[in-house]
Amino acid sequence: MEKGTHKVTGGCMCGAVRYGAPDAHAVVYCHCKSCKAHTGAPVVCLVGYLKDEIVWTGDERKIYDSSAGIRRGFCGKCGTPLTWEGHVEELGGDLIEVFISTTDDPDALVPEFHIWTDEKVEWFDIVDELPRYHGWMHEGEPAFNHGPTMKGKGPKPKA
Ligand SMILES: [Zn+2]
Ligand SMILES: [Zn+2]
Repeated sequence: MEKGTHKVTGGCMCGAVRYGAPDAHAVVYCHCKSCKAHTGAPVVCLVGYLKDEIVWTGDERKIYDSSAGIRRGFCGKCGTPLTWEGHVEELGGDLIEVFISTTDDPDALVPEFHIWTDEKVEWFDIVDELPRYHGWMHEGEPAFNHGPTMKGKGPKPKA
């Protein structure tokens, strides 16, 4: 995928599957069990797009239906996990979230919050100041915690 009109480009490890996308919407850390199982990583970072915003080239990505209505994309040649895909009405319909480590420039995509911290690996401590959510982040929902550690899981005390 030429950089060209695409702000974000990337692909799998072997280069067979490539994608291009416009400027990122939300970039999130996801601690859910399912992302961990799909990638083998203790935590993942995803950048979200509406399905039609992403242009795919090269080999067609393979899809694994990980749960009802949720699809996980990967390269059929090298196995690189690429996407979370599903329908989220409040975010505008069919979404594709791409693992930012598969982009050509992961440094350019900075995570904004943490989701599914209830499923976080115990030994993995979060020491940033980003908002944290038990599960999904729903529009307008206050974060239950901000950094610098996971101690005190209650709501952020008012200053
Ligand atoms: Zn590949
Ligand atoms: Zn996840």
